[in-house]
Amino acid sequence: MNNASHEEIRQLFNHADRILLASHVRPDGDAIGSLLGLGLSLEDAGKEVVMVLSDGVTANFRFMSGYEKICTKVSDDKSFDLVITLDASDPERIGNAIGNRNIDLNIDHHVTNLHFGKHNLVDPLATATSEILAEHLESWGLKFTKPIAEALLTGLITDTIGFRTSNMSPKALKLGAKLMEAGANLPDLYNKSLIDRSYAQINYWGYALEKMERKDRLVWTALTLADRKMAGYNGNDDADLNTLLSSIAECDVTVLFVEQNNHHVKVSWRSKPGFNVSELAFSFNGGGHPAAAGADIEGTLEEVKKDVLEKTTGYLKKITKGKINNGN
Ligand code: 5GP
Ligand code: MN
Repeated sequence: MNNASHEEIRQLFNHADRILLASHVRPDGDAIGSLLGLGLSLEDAGKEVVMVLSDGVTANFRFMSGYEKICTKVSDDKSFDLVITLDASDPERIGNAIGNRNIDLNIDHHVTNLHFGKHNLVDPLATATSEILAEHLESWGLKFTKPIAEALLTGLITDTIGFRTSNMSPKALKLGAKLMEAGANLPDLYNKSLIDRSYAQINYWGYALEKMERKDRLVWTALTLADRKMAGYNGNDDADLNTLLSSIAECDVTVLFVEQNNHHVKVSWRSKPGFNVSELAFSFNGGGHPAAAGADIEGTLEEVKKDVLEKTTGYLKKITKGKINNGN
């Protein structure tokens, strides 16, 4: 599971003219930020760059410079010298945007990453894929401009929910400062990416909050396709409801089910320190981080709910019992 050296990555970029970059479905700030951060810097270095997200850029991130360059599909007959994925722990996370091309370079920060690239740069200690780029871009021969710094700082702010997740480090804070020095406006990006919300988004939350349930220290709820329609919410994501759920004090783990229109349910887990939900997500072929993980599971909402809640309850019992036996 060796990481590529920075010199190897520099050489990969030097020897490539046409470069394809992709990130994951239901993109978050780090997916879009890392894609734009690396994509724009390679473009500035004179490369022909194609950036792709199979779900496109969500409306709330359309403030990012260059977002309109991101497409949703690349035709199978177009050839590239280098194919890069960002912020994706397995190739399925990319969706159908890049067909079945081989991945030359996989840059990510998920502990569950499968090292599926020909070359891999996986740093589970990094708070965001954008943090990895902020740290190393210059050693790969690339430069920061204001739009690049803004993209990467947006990734850093969103994955750390405003520098407050438990994996936050002095290094991440220093890299945030470096991005500010390169021209990114922290309060402006913070407000745009974490605070500003649409009426439809909050309305959508309302449907899930009404259905919210709790058993012991587990809280869960669901967003259905009907809720999405009634609220007039356009995305197929959780509209950031996870952040609100994870602020509930009386629980250790929250689970959010978001019904999808392909007979799948997107499941998100959030947990308090001491609980590792990435293992749970991984057991459902998903992935993520100890405190925030997800999986895309086939089945009806009722089927998926039953299975996931059973396994999550079992996990919580096991962990809680272990804690009691250890006397903490
Ligand atoms: P969220 O629950 O907000 O979608 O994602 C939480 C974390 O889990 C993110 O780091 C995200 O990349 C990861 N994640 C979410 N869904 C999936 C999935 O279906 N597969 C994998 N491998 N990771 C996921
Ligand atoms: Mn990320």
